[in-house]
Amino acid sequence: MVAGRLAATERRLHTRSGREVLLQVWVEPGNEDRTDHAMQSLVRAIRWDEERFGLELDLDRFMIVAVGDFNMGAMENKGLNIFNTKYVFANPRIATDQDFAAIESVVGHEYFHNWTGNRVTCRDWFQLTLKEGLTVFRDQEFSADMLAARSTTAAAAASARAVKRIEDVRVLRAAQFPEDAGPMAHPIRPDSYQEINNFYTVTVYEKGAEVIRMLQTLVGRDGFRRGMDLYFVRHDGRAVTCDDFVAAIADANGVALGQFGRWYSQAGTPRLRASGRHDAQARRYLLAIEQSCPPSPGQPDKAPFHVPLALGLVGPDGSDRELRVFEERDGVLRQVAARTEASAHGRTVVLDVTGPRHLFVFEDVDAAPIPSLARNFSAPVTVEFDYDEAQLAFLAAHDSDPFNRWEAAQRLATDAVLGIVGGADAADRSAPLAAVLGRLLEDEALDPAFRDQLFVLPSEGFIAEQLAVVDPVALRDARNALRRCVAGALAKRWAPAWAALSDPGPWSPEPAAAGRRALKNTVLAWWVETQAPEAIAAAAAQFQRADNMTDRAGALHALLRTAAREREAALARFGRDFADEPLVLDKWFSMQATMHRHAGDPPVLGRVRALLGHPAFSARNPNRVRALVGSFCNGNLAEFHAADGSGYAFWREQVLAVDAINPQVAARLARALDRWSKFTPGRQAAMRAVLEEVAAHESLSADVREIVGKALAS
Ligand code: ASP
Ligand code: ZN
Repeated sequence: MVAGRLAATERRLHTRSGREVLLQVWVEPGNEDRTDHAMQSLVRAIRWDEERFGLELDLDRFMIVAVGDFNMGAMENKGLNIFNTKYVFANPRIATDQDFAAIESVVGHEYFHNWTGNRVTCRDWFQLTLKEGLTVFRDQEFSADMLAARSTTAAAAASARAVKRIEDVRVLRAAQFPEDAGPMAHPIRPDSYQEINNFYTVTVYEKGAEVIRMLQTLVGRDGFRRGMDLYFVRHDGRAVTCDDFVAAIADANGVALGQFGRWYSQAGTPRLRASGRHDAQARRYLLAIEQSCPPSPGQPDKAPFHVPLALGLVGPDGSDRELRVFEERDGVLRQVAARTEASAHGRTVVLDVTGPRHLFVFEDVDAAPIPSLARNFSAPVTVEFDYDEAQLAFLAAHDSDPFNRWEAAQRLATDAVLGIVGGADAADRSAPLAAVLGRLLEDEALDPAFRDQLFVLPSEGFIAEQLAVVDPVALRDARNALRRCVAGALAKRWAPAWAALSDPGPWSPEPAAAGRRALKNTVLAWWVETQAPEAIAAAAAQFQRADNMTDRAGALHALLRTAAREREAALARFGRDFADEPLVLDKWFSMQATMHRHAGDPPVLGRVRALLGHPAFSARNPNRVRALVGSFCNGNLAEFHAADGSGYAFWREQVLAVDAINPQVAARLARALDRWSKFTPGRQAAMRAVLEEVAAHESLSADVREIVGKALAS
């Protein structure tokens, strides 16, 4: 039950079987004009679940209620989904294109829980991923289908879907991979917990969704649908387990998924080490794969996983080779009965990697190919292969799999940053990436949203995981040096690209228009990186005249790449203009909390502390705490880990203060020190010290106690 002074916007709809249903979105009066997008998203979600999974709304009335103070994004209470306003309120003045997309995805997510979560629910808390992994997978597919549905050609649809995939994989790598490598590592079905609220994690949700996606990859899209149908026939109205779900997929398709079950019981990110050799005489390509998985708390040794490895071989002309695959076992070659997928211009095979070691042999391969591995990110693993720069540049230009084109460019960027951290010359190391990006910037064959993804460098958090010892200041310097060099190398290209992408017409929420805006704003940030006065003037002008939040926030974001006075002027104006819009001020808090420091700037922590005193800030509101304190501790690596330990003192103070009010939010914040043992020795000692101080605190919540206890035990 929700009680309050609330007003509803309504819509009536006929479900597929012809029943009339009433849809309502309830908000505090005065906000009715920002519910339209949520309502449209709900209608699309209802239609999509009917079409893709044959699942219909089972109620006469379905309600969403939006509240400003909420710990989670939303909650799927039957018939009355409770939402954080962040995932309901939207109009072009206050919401970015990313907000629009996030609303569609969360509205879909909660609606899809009506079947996967409510009609069939979890037998116990350990099974949380039964509903969350599956429902995240469903919302990801929903968003991808919505993007693709509005594309006009098959190629555009493929690259639209790839954009969604890239965004999801970015989150997985930036947040879940570190979790899986740290003190809180747990299988998607944890086998113990002190506080279940701490297990609403990226592992249970996002890795859980990857596990469901692998099931779909293994049995195909139709096979997956058959499995879902059987799952509801067997379990509708009951509380069941993850094993029941896997059994339904296996039984509906007559496949054995016993080994696959290890994804539910073993933590850690598996590694596939691949190496290839072309035998010109025998016209063969040999691909050796070794799999391993690092130890995690309570699990020193791992048994091999069942990994679906989708791959293609890219020939010297840039097109995919025909694939005739054999596997060598005990000196005997056997043909592999793997699923192959032929798309408009690609050929992909899905190999089952089940053992610690495999040798695959591809027959009739004339010229040395370049392997394109784990296409579309076919498994939540890391793939190691010694590509050289020329091979990565080739894949970025030609791979038929758009995800792996992006992946090749990301590898080039990651390798460059790692090289610069190790002392290599930044200009030298950035040249190959600059050449690749330069070629793709104006490639009209590629969706602008996809090109935008190519220009977003891998996050500091992701790169940090590749280092044995992290000096976050050196890492940021190296990554920024790469940015500056690439920006400089393409200096003449930014202004015309930005101008060409500027839409003169009225704002439209359509994906095509949103994709252009995304690329335009990314280009603007690269241009400002050059510190050219024209770039700063262009950003300031865009900020002034923007008629939508994407362009306004995009311009402000670009201005944060400079110490020019336009930056502070724009920040001040934004704060004034949106003083009455808490969700917009969250963007403002978060942008400042994640700022980099430029020549002459004082430490960012000073700004964050000042903002704690801003009239719009409140430690009692979860969104505000996440926007300001959470963004600084979890999203500003170099400033938070300042060598003087000031960030850690701030962390201790904030964790304790928030814990007294809201243990769930405090526990999220506490996790900023999870990876303490990855850092330089001085930082490690300083982090241990504050962890111990918090652990010694008498009235600590069970939530925070579990997090700091596990961090200290690692
Ligand atoms: N079950 C919710 C969700 O994932 C989160 C919550 O428990 O509030 O949608
Ligand atoms: Zn959920």
